[in-house]
Amino acid sequence: MFQDIKNNTPIEHVTIKNGVHVDIKRLDQIHPYISGNKFYKLKYNLIEAKQQGYSQILTFGGAYSNHIAATAYAAKYYNFKSIGIIRGEELANQPLNHTLSFAHDACQMQLSFVSRSEYKMRDQYNYLEQLKAQYPNIYIIPEGGTNAFAIEGCKEILKPSETSQYDIICCAVGTGGTLLGLIQSTPPSCKILGFSALKGDFLAKDLKKLTTKTHWHITDEYCFGGYAKTSPELISFIKWFETAYGMPLEPIYTGKMCYGIFDLINQSIFPQGTKILLIHTGGLQGKSSLM
Ligand SMILES: *Cc1c(COP(=O)(O)O)cnc(C)c1O
Repeated sequence: MFQDIKNNTPIEHVTIKNGVHVDIKRLDQIHPYISGNKFYKLKYNLIEAKQQGYSQILTFGGAYSNHIAATAYAAKYYNFKSIGIIRGEELANQPLNHTLSFAHDACQMQLSFVSRSEYKMRDQYNYLEQLKAQYPNIYIIPEGGTNAFAIEGCKEILKPSETSQYDIICCAVGTGGTLLGLIQSTPPSCKILGFSALKGDFLAKDLKKLTTKTHWHITDEYCFGGYAKTSPELISFIKWFETAYGMPLEPIYTGKMCYGIFDLINQSIFPQGTKILLIHTGGLQGKSSLM
């Protein structure tokens, strides 16, 4: 499983700014749709689903979800049927956007559009039991793909020989699964800095319950008002970054992380000679509909 997709992605130099050395790990180069961190989050889930003899994968996401696109593609590739529970019943009567038409038309994911109130039940035991009765032989992956198997996979994002080169590792945060994998797989000397795509400090509180390690910090200061919210300043930063360094970003996750770390470097909060590694978590599939 996944052995035929190469994941030995390079670390590339970005810039030296205010005496701080910045490199980037190009997880976006793994695959256009099983993109970036989603490769690692799905890996052990699909191995488990195959071993347990499941024939269908069911998961949850919004209309632009990178996780939906990745799961649809990976499921098809490994001969599972797939079902996507999509937030927003109004979408059922509209033409499918790029992400959803890829999932449905190219990967034959069965889409079920549900109300926001039904979508809120996505982690409830009774609701999941109801879905299991409705769709036979399903392996359920939570929204964003985050569960214990995902965290196992995310521990493989960086090799020890890579982490040992850096003082700080930066990653965009949605559900926190990727960050948790990085936290679990790095020594305390390497600080993990998470840039939340969502507003609020609930993520940091949740993560504190899941790890005893303390060499990490999450900020929502660069979420631009909340999930999928943008501003002209963010979009022009992304365009500038892409031209300056020749690397694509998107506005939901990686654009906000890069904006944030550049802002912190400009404020000179890091000592001269600090070495920072950015994780490019991918997510470029939805970009054309977003900016
Ligand atoms: C899903 C996603 C994330 C967030 O990952 P979590 O493990 O949910 O925190 C970050 N960046 C990109 C590009 C993503 O698609």
